[in-house]
Amino acid sequence: MPTNATDIAAYQYLDQTVCPQCTKDVLTPFELVGDPDRSTEDVLNDMAQRWRIDRHADDFSSEDFPKPIYAPDLIPGESCFVCGTKL
Ligand SMILES: [Zn+2]
Repeated sequence: MPTNATDIAAYQYLDQTVCPQCTKDVLTPFELVGDPDRSTEDVLNDMAQRWRIDRHADDFSSEDFPKPIYAPDLIPGESCFVCGTKL
C-alpha cells in the first residue's frame, strides 16, 4: 500500500505515541462502544465537537486531545505506547 503525506500513522496523545486503533479504543465513549465500523478519525471528529475542540486550529495540546502523526513524521522504530505494536 503506498503511503502519502496525508496518511495518519499514529496519534500523539498525553505526550505518547499511540496507534490509531488504541486511540479509538481510548476515546470512544461508552455509548458508542460496539460500533466497530467507525474509523478513528470519525470518532475523533465526533469527540472534538462534543468537547468543543477545533481540530484544525491546532491551539490545543496533545494533553487535551490526540494529534495526528502523519507517516513521514513518524520516528522510525516507534511503537504504540498502549499495545506495543510497532508503527
Ligand atoms: Zn496500540
